[in-house]
Amino acid sequence: MSDCHENDKEYHRAYYLAHREEIIRKNTIRARENSDRVRAYHQEYRRLNSKKMKLYFQRYARKHRREKAEYLQRYWTEHKQELMAKQRAYAAKTRAHCMEIIAQRWGDAVPRCRFDTLPENHPLRHAPCYGKLQADHMNGDGAKDRRNFYCAVASGKRGVEDLRVLCRLHQLWNQQY
Ligand SMILES: [Zn+2]
Repeated sequence: MSDCHENDKEYHRAYYLAHREEIIRKNTIRARENSDRVRAYHQEYRRLNSKKMKLYFQRYARKHRREKAEYLQRYWTEHKQELMAKQRAYAAKTRAHCMEIIAQRWGDAVPRCRFDTLPENHPLRHAPCYGKLQADHMNGDGAKDRRNFYCAVASGKRGVEDLRVLCRLHQLWNQQY
């Protein structure tokens, strides 16, 4: 019995390998042709079975809660470096995108320090740039904006009318001196 099953598996594997390209091509075409129908079917299924599905997922989550927590814990420990690097890369990308959006509001394709927008007679206007570029809150209410700021700007959730790009030095414009 199990031999037969194994043979079947072997046969299917060999068949797949021999016709791989063709199978993938055909499946892709079929999926494309049927995508609307399949989507409609799933939507209808979810609509008719929403209660049942909710119960099922709840029960499943309850039953596997410990397993899931352990798995996540293990996954985090084993992939810590990699996950943190990914997180850092994502944060840097979001920040860069955010800075670009703010720069564009001032007509700049590439972010640059806009110390020329400081008040006319501000002493820092004549100081050379120094340090990393930052997003400057022109109305000075940056503190309440700290959480998810870059994300909000990059996704368009937060407008940029009151923002500009300044270097670390020129951003001191509103400090007491
Ligand atoms: Zn500057």
